Amino acid sequence: MSAFELVPQWLWVFFSMILGMLFGSFSNVCIARMPENESLAYPPSNCPKCNTPIRPTDNIPVLSYLLLGGKCRACKESISVQYPIVEIVTGLLMAGVVFKFGATLESILYLIIMPPLVIITMIDIKHQIIPDRITLPGIVYGLAAGSWLHGWADSLIGFVVGGGSFLLLAEVYQRTRGVQGMGGGDIKYIAAAGAFLGWQQVLVVIFGGSLLGALFGALGMSVKRIKFLTRIPFGPFLVLATLLSIFFGNELIDLYLEAAGMKQ
Ligand SMILES: [Zn+2]
Repeated sequence: MSAFELVPQWLWVFFSMILGMLFGSFSNVCIARMPENESLAYPPSNCPKCNTPIRPTDNIPVLSYLLLGGKCRACKESISVQYPIVEIVTGLLMAGVVFKFGATLESILYLIIMPPLVIITMIDIKHQIIPDRITLPGIVYGLAAGSWLHGWADSLIGFVVGGGSFLLLAEVYQRTRGVQGMGGGDIKYIAAAGAFLGWQQVLVVIFGGSLLGALFGALGMSVKRIKFLTRIPFGPFLVLATLLSIFFGNELIDLYLEAAGMKQ
């Protein structure tokens, strides 16, 4: 029995929830500073309104937000509810990884990508960009971790299938419509996701992300009468589909094969 096995599974899940909330706290810094290309390390966190540095004791994920009643201690300005939400979501995702994959090396490879996925989602919603500072290291990481998880061939084909199909789609869209439909950030994202997940799962992400995006777009058009060409960021749907692929990918592929009559 290894030392890992002496700690019960639920305790690992609990630890990863706490760790995830701490990472979520740092993710909030990234979400605020990456689009402006600011340093992530300096200056230390301060109130966006009055610039008062935040005391370490007021920087405890979720708890500080609740204790301060969602207001800055110095100027009493409301703190965005985004902060605790990002912390809780990152915590839940990292707990979910350990719940699914256990205390394994595999888990660690999946844990590492959870904060970046949350950061990408928030930055794309707010600024309609996916920063190169995440996707370019993501491609390198995807190829390394993907090779370990599925073998280098699957990882490399996933990279080519993901990045290549989006590159082609963007090119076709640009030529037929004369406007840019898909940003370079989406292309680099799906290349990284393909490298990390392998070619089978990147297909799940492409189909799933497109389906989710189309459903949301149709809903948005009928509810809010959004103009057809209003750009809805694609990143959040790709991230959601990536998460579905990680947590339920094999089940989704089985469902599809059964529905298509290719598997009993
Ligand atoms: Zn303040």
